[in-house]
Amino acid sequence: MTASGEARRLAVVGAGPAGYPAAFYAADLGMDVTLVDTRADPGGVCLYCGCIPSKALLHAAGLIAETRAAGAMGLSFAAPTVDLDALRGWKDGVVRKLTGGLGQLRKGRKVRMLQGRARFASPSRLVVRTAEGKEETPAFDVALLATGSRPVQVPGFPVDAPRVMDSTGALALPDVPERMLVVGGGYIGLELGTVYAALGARVSVVEMLPGLLPGADRDLVAPVARRAEAAFESILLETRVAGVRAGESDVEVKLAGKDGGERTEVYERVLVAVGRRPNTADLGLEAAGVAVDRRGFVQVDGARRTTEPRIFAAGDVAGEPMLAHKATHEARLAVEAIAGRRAAFEPRAIPAVVFTDPEIAWCGLTEAEAKGSGRSVRVARFPWSASGRALTLDRTEGLTKLLADADSGRVLGVGISGPHAGDLIAEGALAIEMGATVEDLALTIHPHPTLSETLMEAAEAYLGHCTHLAPATRPTGRK
Ligand code: NAD
Repeated sequence: MTASGEARRLAVVGAGPAGYPAAFYAADLGMDVTLVDTRADPGGVCLYCGCIPSKALLHAAGLIAETRAAGAMGLSFAAPTVDLDALRGWKDGVVRKLTGGLGQLRKGRKVRMLQGRARFASPSRLVVRTAEGKEETPAFDVALLATGSRPVQVPGFPVDAPRVMDSTGALALPDVPERMLVVGGGYIGLELGTVYAALGARVSVVEMLPGLLPGADRDLVAPVARRAEAAFESILLETRVAGVRAGESDVEVKLAGKDGGERTEVYERVLVAVGRRPNTADLGLEAAGVAVDRRGFVQVDGARRTTEPRIFAAGDVAGEPMLAHKATHEARLAVEAIAGRRAAFEPRAIPAVVFTDPEIAWCGLTEAEAKGSGRSVRVARFPWSASGRALTLDRTEGLTKLLADADSGRVLGVGISGPHAGDLIAEGALAIEMGATVEDLALTIHPHPTLSETLMEAAEAYLGHCTHLAPATRPTGRK
C-alpha cells in the first residue's frame, strides 16, 4: 500500500518467466499490476519459442531414439514415419495450452495486460506503442524490467537468408533438411541438433572451442559427446566459419580448422546458436536513469533494484545465467523487495540442465571451479553402470558426481549425466541450499529401484562404503 492507503501500482515490462511470475505474485500481494508484452498472453521466449517447444520436440526425438535402441531388448519397430505437420501441430498445441492457461490465470488475478512495445520516456513515464499504433502511458509507482534476451549474431553471417535460422526458426520446424549445420556446440545447438538428427537430418556441429558445452564439467559432457558423435554426421571442434554464401535452396559454408586448413561444405539449412544477449536496446534506459554494464546487462543490486530506485530488473536482462528458473526466482524476490520486505538474491545453487541425450545437469560448485578457488574439496563419483535402475533402462553410461567441503563434509556441488538428470538435480540443489552434508544424503532413504539412489550411493562412495562399488574401485573421495 502507498502512504495514502492505495494499492501500489507496478508496471512489468516483459511477460516471460521473469515478468509473468512477478506480475502474478505482485497481484497476490495486493498490488495493482500492468503487464506489458508484445504478445497477447504471458509466456515469453521460454514458452513460445524456447524451453517448452524445444522440450516437446526433444520428447518426440527421444521416443524415436528409444524405438531404435529397443532392438537390444528384442523389440523391433519399423522406421518411424514422421508427419511433420502433425508433429508441429502437437508442439504448437502444447504452447497454446500453456500460454492460454497463463492468460486465464492473469485474468483471474486482475492483472491488466497491455499488448505493445514499451519504452521509458523518463524514470516515471512509460510509453507503450500498441499493435494498433496507439500510445498508452500506464501509471506506475514501481516498474520491473523483464525484457529477456535474444540470439547473438555471428559477424559476417547473413541474418535474413532463407536457409539460415536462429533457435526460433529451427523450432518452427519448417522441414527436415537432408544436411544441416549447427554453428555453436552449446545448449541450443546440441538440443536442437538432437531433434533434427532424430527426425532424419544429417547434422554437423561446428564449435570454435576445444569441447562441446564449454562451461560444463568434462566428466558430465563425456557421455553426451560420445552419443552425439554417433547421432551426428560430424562434430567439428576448434573450427570456425570463415565464410558463408547463402542461396535460395542451400548454404555454402567455408570451415576453418585450428591447423589453418579450410574446406567448403554445402548444407540445406544452417542453425546459428552462439549465445544470447540481453534485450536492453530501444527501452529508453538512459532516459530512465537505468545503467547497463559493458556486456549490456542492466546493473542491479542484491534486491534487483537498478540505478534508478523506482525501477527493478530480473531475468536474462539482469545478468547470467540466462535460465528461466533463475529468472522466476529472481523476479519473485524483486517483488518481495518492492513490497517492502527484506530480500536478497543469494542462491548457493542455480541448477543448469542441458536436455541432450543423455541429459546433463549440475548445481553449485563444479570441479574446475573448486580447483580454481583453491578450496579444499573432495569429489566422489558413482558410475551408473552400478545402478540397477540404469541397467533396467539400458542406460548405464551415466554418472553422478558429488563435491563436498573436505573438512565439514557439506555438499558444495552436484553433477549428473544420464536420462532424467534434469529432474534428479533438484535434490542436489535442495541439499546445497539446506547446508546438507554428504552424510545427510547417504542416510536419507532413497526409493529403490530409482535413479535417485545414485545420489545416495555417490554419498556412500564419498564416505568410503558404497554398497554397489567393489572395494578395489571404491572412490573414497580425494582432495
Ligand atoms: P551457449 O553459450 O550455450 O553456446 C554457444 C556456443 O557457441 C559456445 O559453445 C561457444 O563457444 C560457441 N560459439 C560462439 N561463437 C562461435 C562461432 N563463431 N563459431 C562456432 N562456435 C561458436 O549459447 P546457446 O546455445 O546459443 O544458448 C544461449 C543461452 O540460452 C544459454 O547459455 C542458456 O543460458 C540458454 N538456454 C538454456 C537452455 C536450457 O536451460 N536447457 C536451453 C537453451 C538455451
